[in-house]
Amino acid sequence: MSNDRNQSDIILIGAGVMSATLGSLLKELAPDWNIKVFEKLSSPGEESSNEWNNAGTGHAALCELNYTSEKPDGSIDITKAIKVNEQFQVSLQFWSYLVQNNLIRNPQDFIMPIPHMSFVKGANNVDFLKRRLEALSQNPLFEGMEFSSDPETLKEWIPVMMEGRSLDEPVAATKIDSGTDVNFGALTRMLFDHLEEEGVQVHYQHAVKDLKKANDGSWQVKVQNINSGQTDVHTAKFVFIGGGGGSIHLLQKTGIPESKQIGGFPVSGLFMVCNNPEIVEKHHAKVYGKAKVGAPPMSVPHIDTRYIQNKKSLLFGPFAGFSPKFLKTGSNMDLIRSVNLGNVLTMLAAGVKELSLTKYLIQQVLLSNEKRMEELREFIPDAKMEDWEIIVAGQRVQVIKDTPAGKGTLQFGTEVVSSADGSVAALLGASPGASTAVQVMLEVLEKCFPQHIDEWSPKIKEMIPSYGQSLMNDEELLREVHAHTSQTLELSKKKVQKLAYI
Ligand SMILES: Cc1cc2nc3c(=O)[nH]c(=O)nc-3n(C[C@H](O)[C@H](O)[C@H](O)COP(=O)(O)OP(=O)(O)OC[C@H]3O[C@@H](n4cnc5c(N)ncnc54)[C@H](O)[C@@H]3O)c2cc1C
Repeated sequence: MSNDRNQSDIILIGAGVMSATLGSLLKELAPDWNIKVFEKLSSPGEESSNEWNNAGTGHAALCELNYTSEKPDGSIDITKAIKVNEQFQVSLQFWSYLVQNNLIRNPQDFIMPIPHMSFVKGANNVDFLKRRLEALSQNPLFEGMEFSSDPETLKEWIPVMMEGRSLDEPVAATKIDSGTDVNFGALTRMLFDHLEEEGVQVHYQHAVKDLKKANDGSWQVKVQNINSGQTDVHTAKFVFIGGGGGSIHLLQKTGIPESKQIGGFPVSGLFMVCNNPEIVEKHHAKVYGKAKVGAPPMSVPHIDTRYIQNKKSLLFGPFAGFSPKFLKTGSNMDLIRSVNLGNVLTMLAAGVKELSLTKYLIQQVLLSNEKRMEELREFIPDAKMEDWEIIVAGQRVQVIKDTPAGKGTLQFGTEVVSSADGSVAALLGASPGASTAVQVMLEVLEKCFPQHIDEWSPKIKEMIPSYGQSLMNDEELLREVHAHTSQTLELSKKKVQKLAYI
């Protein structure tokens, strides 16, 4: 344990859901370690983790069609769906542990049960959806999923989506009741309250400007107090760069070989929100559609019931767009500043390869409100402009790197980049994102603290009973985990009925 005022064991950069999760795991595993957090904004969870900056889907691959692709032989590949689902079960278990031990309270403030549905139009898509259900229903992780192409059943499931719909082409949906809406902003704030109660020093309005490795292997982190302008150097044996879109710049400053040939491509987003109670009350699900041909996976349109501060609303989107900022509160120079001698060829190669994405994003930026309404009416045929307002979502910075698939390949996943000696790690990318925070932060621990993992394993198992095991291969454990997390996190329908009319 370190005593010097500017010295600590761990520095977490950024107060988003990732740093919150890593800090909370470490407080359980190594309670004596001294942890400091530096966040440039004035409170936690204000960037991508904020409830209005993301869609709040507890991604478990129950409804997102981009996690189940069709193979050339017509069969459905569910590998990615299984991975995402298993990762979400890890998050549920850790949140459950925190609630059960009173480390965070009131689970209804951050997680609500909501059916997850996929909705498609046209004979080919209906056929795909049916085959997808067949492939998934053989796996216990997806138990309880139903399919219907019967308009009467669909009217019961999604009344507002069926009202005024001309049924000149077939439509179908799948529905599974074990889906969730997660308020990642509320969760992040709860986790930071908990960390401060546990003695973690969280410094808001403190921006990290630079990182340098000292001769003794520790990191010197240059931090500026935004109010006073004063700059101090803090040292730590381990630094986690959880700066969201800001992580790429900070990773580049470390100069570690792993930071070379990596760049970022920012994709901005808009949502449409409806607060009209008459319409809100007619919809109770997260309904994902199919991405348009040529559209990137993160732009799959969906219409969601959201629970934010005990209030229900509907969210539609996202509409992708282009902004050179890496954070919503970032600078228009972010993209240019991220290009350096190490990654310029990688970035240029991506620029050439991703012309269709660039074209798609430009088209999205140019969409008029009327065009956005047309996209919404694919889901809610009777939607009226006066019921919907537009809000700006968070920035996603997609990673660009050289892979076996070629130079300058755009990645759509979440990536942990760490130094060979495990003294620094950064989290890049955005998808599946916050839902998989616990699994991803466990990976950070495994990569950066291999010497402690054996000693920590029993505690990790206590917090996450499925740790190191595959739930799909152990149905008994899966059922136990489901029953336990549903009970602790109060994921029952009763809760929804109680809250829906507040
Ligand atoms: C439009 C959109 C929709 C999404 N939908 C979903 C969804 O439905 N489900 C899901 O699971 N995930 C979703 N995500 C992804 C999810 O929001 C992110 O993966 C997650 O919030 C990232 O958390 P983070 O802690 O890494 O980053 P952030 O929450 O962005 O936090 C990073 C923090 O670091 C701070 N920071 C940056 N640079 C510095 C610096 N130099 N010094 C000090 N502080 C700094 C920032 O101010 C910020 O507070 C979505 C994202 C977007 C943008």
